[in-house]
Amino acid sequence: MKLMEFRSSELLAKQGIQVPKGVVISEPGKLEEMNGPVVIKAQVPVGGRGKAGGVKFASSLEEARKNAGTILGMEIKGHKVRSVLVAEKLDIAKELYLSCMVDREAGMPLLIASAEGGMDIESVPEEKIFKTHINPLIGLQGYQLRDMLSALKLPKEQAGQVSDIAKKVYACMLAEDAELVEINPLAITPKGQLVAGDAKVVIDDDSMFRHPEHKGVEEDLTPLEKEAKEKGISFVQLDGDIGVIANGAGLTMATLDALGTMGGKGGTFLDLGGTDDPEKVKQAFTILKKANPKVILMNIFGGITRCDTVAQGVHDVIMKEGVNCKVVARIKGWYEEKAREILKEAGLISAATMEEAAKLATKISKEA
Ligand code: GDP
Ligand code: MN
Repeated sequence: MKLMEFRSSELLAKQGIQVPKGVVISEPGKLEEMNGPVVIKAQVPVGGRGKAGGVKFASSLEEARKNAGTILGMEIKGHKVRSVLVAEKLDIAKELYLSCMVDREAGMPLLIASAEGGMDIESVPEEKIFKTHINPLIGLQGYQLRDMLSALKLPKEQAGQVSDIAKKVYACMLAEDAELVEINPLAITPKGQLVAGDAKVVIDDDSMFRHPEHKGVEEDLTPLEKEAKEKGISFVQLDGDIGVIANGAGLTMATLDALGTMGGKGGTFLDLGGTDDPEKVKQAFTILKKANPKVILMNIFGGITRCDTVAQGVHDVIMKEGVNCKVVARIKGWYEEKAREILKEAGLISAATMEEAAKLATKISKEA
């Protein structure tokens, strides 16, 4: 679960990291007072708000309300802005980057720091990024912090503070069962204080059972993802233009990879899981249609699931409501012949293998 900035900041503050004081409002009129200049920031669970116009400054109450009004209701990377954080404006002399994330390949937490903060870490040259894995059994070691400080080439006055914050970021990750704790920018004020100018915490969904405090927190879901979740369908919306419908997380990921290999871009994907319920398939297909992909790629392996059940669900939706894009299907397994007949009747394009299906879908998506 991706937490918004203001919630993430609270978690940092709990560890003793300095964060700007602020309030969250959902209507400009709710802003009652301010002491000095403020920064108004869209609360959406994605980065790059600055570039998208979701971060504005103000020095009077009137200006602050006006800017809050502009940001509220904006859409940033598909997320409607429903609330803004109005925080004291920091004087920033320099911006650093600091984060701790789970490195799944290494099976260890990874501490990342850079003297080039503020921008997306992805756009910072590799040689300017310091990384060190933390052995979870012994924790973050002194030598690692010293390595970090020498890589960042920080003045002595800040070294102690930055080390201290790095330790707290790691502590925050452990305490909150986070997959990511990111401070960007970690601001150095002209007076040499270090303050977390922005915060992003992602909580491991599998740890939710021990974090009831996050229950009911508005989630990073698009309206369609929300609709799917309510119906118990696992559906993810990305930027690409090929809608994928598969069963099982493994096959779904493999399908996205196959598309990637062919040069296609999976946009939304939907994992039917082991469903044998035509009604569920109908709902799932309807949601995928609403996402308006240029082409839909169905990749079904019927091990437990009967292929014809899935096919029937898709068939019924298409016959009843139509579909405004081509649908390529690769179906294998239990009752596959019957499934193919059903899908043929609904006008689907059949592919024999996953590769062929991916190739076809990619081609269609490029022509569409
Ligand atoms: P993001 O674009 O979503 O990562 O949003 P940030 O909160 O990181 O803000 C983007 C940029 O706006 C930061 O890198 C800063 O340069 C600037 N910014 C944000 N808050 C403040 C602030 O309080 N004071 C100053 N001077 N700049 C700020
Ligand atoms: Mn940021």
